[in-house]
Amino acid sequence: MNVLVINAGSSSLKYQLLNPENGELLAKGLCERIGIDGKFTYKPQIAGKEKQDAVDVAMPTHSEAIQTVLNALVDEKNGVISSMKEIDAVGHRVVHGGEAFNKSVLITDEVLKAIEDCNPLAPLHNPANLIGIRACAEIMPGVPMVAVFDTAFHQTMPPKAYMYALPYEYYAEDKVRRYGFHGTSHKYVAARAAVMLGKKPEELKLISCHLGNGSSVTAVDCGKSVDTSMGFTPLAGVCMGTRSGDLDAGILQYIMNKKGLNIDEMLNILNKKSGVQGVSGVSSDFRDLENAGKEGNERASLAVEMFNYGVKKLIGAYAAAMGGVDAIIFTAGVGENSKSQRMDIASGLEFMGVKMCEKANDVRGEEAVISAADSKVKVLLIPTNEELMIAMDTMNIVK
Ligand code: AMP
Repeated sequence: MNVLVINAGSSSLKYQLLNPENGELLAKGLCERIGIDGKFTYKPQIAGKEKQDAVDVAMPTHSEAIQTVLNALVDEKNGVISSMKEIDAVGHRVVHGGEAFNKSVLITDEVLKAIEDCNPLAPLHNPANLIGIRACAEIMPGVPMVAVFDTAFHQTMPPKAYMYALPYEYYAEDKVRRYGFHGTSHKYVAARAAVMLGKKPEELKLISCHLGNGSSVTAVDCGKSVDTSMGFTPLAGVCMGTRSGDLDAGILQYIMNKKGLNIDEMLNILNKKSGVQGVSGVSSDFRDLENAGKEGNERASLAVEMFNYGVKKLIGAYAAAMGGVDAIIFTAGVGENSKSQRMDIASGLEFMGVKMCEKANDVRGEEAVISAADSKVKVLLIPTNEELMIAMDTMNIVK
């Protein structure tokens, strides 16, 4: 079975064609500058097939972008399938499913309407996801499509974890609550952790640390998300590449008055000019920060320390929330690659049964147990694979 996974943004569209039955990736790529001029990247994963890198292809709308993807996939010379009939289903990443979706669903007219109702909760993302879905429906009529939501995995959180201490009507009438994001990633690595540990998901208390440019930490008890660090929006939680993470809301009023900023300008600073970029003044990229730190840049080192400390505190909090933890998972760009940050985050937690192994931790980008053999709490490195998770959910629903 082949599933086309689509992640549509307002002017870009990422795609992968994969077989969820065996995990084989056939091709992946990207359409960029949709609605402007159009750049197309195609990376077939089969030997002998030629890739295309940011070539000019007119893409006035997402429909032309999807048509371009399909043309490349079935191309006689460099395609990876012989006809469109070999695409059995399409899985769409959708950022926000609100409280309406606690799992992936087959896309129908009612589902499209319900996704549209979530637009105010993710005004930058959901409308773009919908454009991608509609363009696919137009070009691939009859091919079943599934929506996979970033928020769905976290819908199992109890009210005490998802409510904000605000006037209750903000929740009841305005849907203000913690939703959480990166759900597809947390779900995938939690499932892999159970396989690695040879246990059923229902037997495990896990803390999943998705640490990348955007970061979130999730408590997974018995296979279900019971708390997560991102909130009503992906601005919350640990500090990130350019996002502030949690902060005292009183700061907003103080800085806005002092600097004469309006709320849009303030939010732009919190989203794009804060985080480790804001603190360091160097970069949002953790590799740059590590290098600058080694050269003696104290603010770069401070930014990394603040980030690691924030993740460490969440691990402690979630272990307390769940009454224990069996394994801590590191994933995403930083979690998969930075041995020094993993070590910094997980060291000093010996009191709660976490004992890292320097040698085992000297690894990147592959599934590994990185704690000492006698560590009561296992520490795992698990590369995330959101596209495969989307394809697997799509397959399970379509079948
Ligand atoms: P992601 O958002 O998951 O793609 O992760 C991007 C982040 O991962 C960037 O901040 C990268 O600097 C970081 N990253 C990638 N490789 C490394 C590495 N070797 N050491 C530290 N951070 C890394």
